[in-house]
Amino acid sequence: MNKLLEHKTKSCWELYQGEEEQKAMDDLAARYIDFLSRCKTERETIKYVEEALIDAGFDDYLGSDTCFRSFRDKTIFIARKGKKSLSEGFRLVGAHADTPRLDLKQHPLYEDLGLGMAKTHYYGGIRKYQWLARPLSLHGVVVKTDGEKVNIVIGEDPNDPVFTILDLLPHLAYKQVEKKVSDAFEGEKLNILMGHSLSFTKEDEDDKDGDDKAKPSVKRKLLELFNEKYGIVEEDFFSSEMHIVPAGPARYVGLDKSMVGGYGQDDRSCVFLALEAFLCEPEPEHAQIVLFYDKEEVGSDGSTGAKSLFFEYCLEDLIEAWVPGMKMSRIMMMGKALSTDVHAAIDPDYQDVHEKLNSAYLGYGPCFCKFTGHRGKVAANDAHPEFVAWLRNILGEAEVPWQMAELGKVDEGGGGTVAKYLALYGMDVIDFGPPVLSMHSPFELTSKVDLYATALAFRTFLKS
Ligand code: MN
Ligand code: MN
Repeated sequence: MNKLLEHKTKSCWELYQGEEEQKAMDDLAARYIDFLSRCKTERETIKYVEEALIDAGFDDYLGSDTCFRSFRDKTIFIARKGKKSLSEGFRLVGAHADTPRLDLKQHPLYEDLGLGMAKTHYYGGIRKYQWLARPLSLHGVVVKTDGEKVNIVIGEDPNDPVFTILDLLPHLAYKQVEKKVSDAFEGEKLNILMGHSLSFTKEDEDDKDGDDKAKPSVKRKLLELFNEKYGIVEEDFFSSEMHIVPAGPARYVGLDKSMVGGYGQDDRSCVFLALEAFLCEPEPEHAQIVLFYDKEEVGSDGSTGAKSLFFEYCLEDLIEAWVPGMKMSRIMMMGKALSTDVHAAIDPDYQDVHEKLNSAYLGYGPCFCKFTGHRGKVAANDAHPEFVAWLRNILGEAEVPWQMAELGKVDEGGGGTVAKYLALYGMDVIDFGPPVLSMHSPFELTSKVDLYATALAFRTFLKS
């Protein structure tokens, strides 16, 4: 029990000075960097999770004591029996596996001025200028009419080529720099430079024109290369999901390697840490549920988002197998959940948008956000103080550090998470996750100590 009259926060670097802790922290960060570098889309993330679960002996069938079900390769429900019956509630950790990016349009390819280009439509909240003039990779899936799925990854292997979006040279940007940022960068100009050389080969159909030479074409060259490597034709793009993401691996940041920089840490840090924590607590008191969602960055809609009935369908099947006849509503209302998502850390260069007393600080552990929402807590889940007190108690007993914060100054902006879609069912839920700098950028930053403390916090919660 904390008996101090005045609350004081302590940096996690002060707490974790032991050699063993430092080693555990470094190992965790190394595994995390590997995960971030390999998983850049929701499909890649769910596949990674499935493989880890199968390695750990989980069944791809809801009903056994350790089981999971994934849906459309984009969302997954994982469950493990506890010592207590599911009828006494559960411990749930939910995170989202989707991240802001650029998606190729369904008619992507065209050529202009001898350059092969691809049209995009951005997904989620991006700052458009951050995507210009940097190496980008293509990750996706193409489904052919016979149902065959072709996975595509170009730009991650050091021998692969990468793609890029062009940016205006400063010499000719005099008018652009006078504009507001929201007007200066247009969504329709986020076109991907895909290639430049020409194809001279002809399609059979061209022969009918009587021409013996085809018109040289950059676009045809691109199609030939896609066809050579993946066996796809232009029409196949209609049934594809092609994502443009920052190319290259995640990296340590800082002279002291104290931070991790990389794409997609909102919210793949929580996916990774929740999975790690979950696999480390095999004999829990209560039933454990882990949920990884898709579509959080675009409002949680669709059949794989948190507003869908997927969670409910899974729980129904779990009840039928584990506690037949038990009412779902009773189980839900006894459930306790962490909506695990990253929190914006206060940025030394933009302190003015934060309110210092209620900000999250890098290196001070995972952060509770009692409510999200904006302008007067609109659309927020506001966690009940009874639940916050319960969490304070279990984390205090386990000596896991944490902080309590709010996103930005009042009326400065805001945001939402999946917490409110879990709260619908009556379970106790609060937002909780590591602080992140440069959130939603192609190179988000987390602190190694926060990642470590967050994993410990998730473990403590899951075994409670
Ligand atoms: Mn998030
Ligand atoms: Mn986000």
